[in-house]
Amino acid sequence: MIRVGVNGYGTIGRRVADAVKRQGDMELAGVTKTRPDYKSQMAEKKGIPLYAVDMKSLEAFRAAGANVKGTLNDLLQRVDVIVDAAPEDTGPLNKPIYQQAGVKAIYQGGAGDGLADASFVAQCNFEEALGKQAVQVVSCNTTGLCRTINAIDRAVGVTKARAVLARRATDPDDVKKGPIDAVVLDPTTLPSHHGPDVKAVLKDLNIVTMAFKVPTTHMHLHSLILSLRKQATREDLVAALEAAPRVQLVDGKSGFKSTAAIMDLAREMGRPRNDMYEATVWKDSVSVVDGEAYMFMAVHQEAIVVPENIDAIRALYGGYTREASMKLTDAALGIAHR
Ligand code: NAD
Repeated sequence: MIRVGVNGYGTIGRRVADAVKRQGDMELAGVTKTRPDYKSQMAEKKGIPLYAVDMKSLEAFRAAGANVKGTLNDLLQRVDVIVDAAPEDTGPLNKPIYQQAGVKAIYQGGAGDGLADASFVAQCNFEEALGKQAVQVVSCNTTGLCRTINAIDRAVGVTKARAVLARRATDPDDVKKGPIDAVVLDPTTLPSHHGPDVKAVLKDLNIVTMAFKVPTTHMHLHSLILSLRKQATREDLVAALEAAPRVQLVDGKSGFKSTAAIMDLAREMGRPRNDMYEATVWKDSVSVVDGEAYMFMAVHQEAIVVPENIDAIRALYGGYTREASMKLTDAALGIAHR
């Protein structure tokens, strides 16, 4: 069993922790929280060993009567791999703690730059993470872009990728961020960071991206334009996407007119927390005009990186092929395996 800890029990951490619990070859050694609240109470109810981030937070847990096992340092003694799901830009603070404990680490896309030995998207570069001490699972948007562009690149070749991202404002449980009634350029200067982030995985890709935030909490929506190396029809591209791991196709004719319908599909599928792990492409949007492919893709920001974190754990631990790991992950999370 691979012993896994999760440092940071928020949007991503809670999902990764539950996903680890579903793997037959992994044991969730514990999660950390900064302070006692309903999330830590739920973790206790689920039987998840709870650790405080530091001594100050340990005192707060003890004062609240929580059954807390110790601090992050204690958790690190009990794990093979730590998944860092702490807030953005906290990676540089946490990295020396993991290094001192001699524990392999997985960082999320927003943790900071230069923390890991490789960026990671399972279907694109699982092998690059093998034997490494730390990897960074790229952001939700970058994961979606890598999955779809890689699939089309393998089928017909992509000489140039351009993407415009309409980003969700914040996550559904966050009441502190906006916008409520505006479209916010994110950032105003171009291009956005998503292109270079994709290139950390798909190294030879020519890609430029731009992004803005819209008042929604549930999904990002990408408009993708890909210049194709070979002549291809829309049917060729649809076939490539249908064969791609962790990509699903939906159709406007079946009622998928918005991101709301994709989230509703996740509910109908009975997914935990309505999580849509798959990058979702509108089949009827896939078009080829003058050698360029066009399509819309939706990304569920809270969920898409969850399977990648599970595969990253196996890649760092070693002893698995990409195919073996992805098959186990997909089976445990109810993702159609390709
Ligand atoms: P979050 O704010 O929902 O959760 C972070 C949790 O860590 C909170 O519970 C917070 O209390 C706790 N925390 C605070 N300081 C800590 C510390 N020093 N050590 C450990 N835990 C600490 O954040 P999130 O949305 O889950 O994001 C986590 C990481 O995942 C970020 O790097 C983010 O960029 C990345 N990410 C987020 C999303 C998303 O859409 N939410 C998608 C992909 C990647």
